Amino acid sequence: MSGFGVIEIAAELAERGHLPSHCSRHGRPAVKRADFTLQSKVRLEGSRARRVGVFGALGMAERLDQHARTVRVTEVKGWPLCEVCTRTRTGWLSVAAIMFVGGLLLFVGSLIVGMLAEKGTMQELAGVAMAGFALTILAAFPFSRAGMSRVIGAVTAPEGGTVLVNHPSPAFLAELPDR
Ligand SMILES: [Zn+2]
Repeated sequence: MSGFGVIEIAAELAERGHLPSHCSRHGRPAVKRADFTLQSKVRLEGSRARRVGVFGALGMAERLDQHARTVRVTEVKGWPLCEVCTRTRTGWLSVAAIMFVGGLLLFVGSLIVGMLAEKGTMQELAGVAMAGFALTILAAFPFSRAGMSRVIGAVTAPEGGTVLVNHPSPAFLAELPDR
């Protein structure tokens, strides 16, 4: 088999958990099966003019509503994850957790020290507090890398009904029922 691009799996198949025993990314045997909700990516439409000015907020609400109406989800059951997938996911999750908790500790810690310290040190402490705050926000990046969709390289199709898998491994493909 050669030349795999993006392949489609019936969403129904994924929801019933009739999935291969090898992972879709690396083709290694699954060490774990994961249940999760896989969303579709949505391109928001709407005129640019309405995003600014008085109607900006209104336009935003409209787009959020549109987002809620157009996102399709698949309730995936038992997706195969190999040891590499599992390690990738826990790795990014750990980085996110360390950044978030570390940032929070820095932020809260500098506030507490600020209350106890003498006035001269305030400016440096404010800097530490800001850095801590920034860290908690930046934790969103590793957190998104840990997302199931990113790890397995799959999304729900924009119109729903199918799951799109990006460059699936031959071992994963071989175990799929005839499509
Ligand atoms: Zn894998």
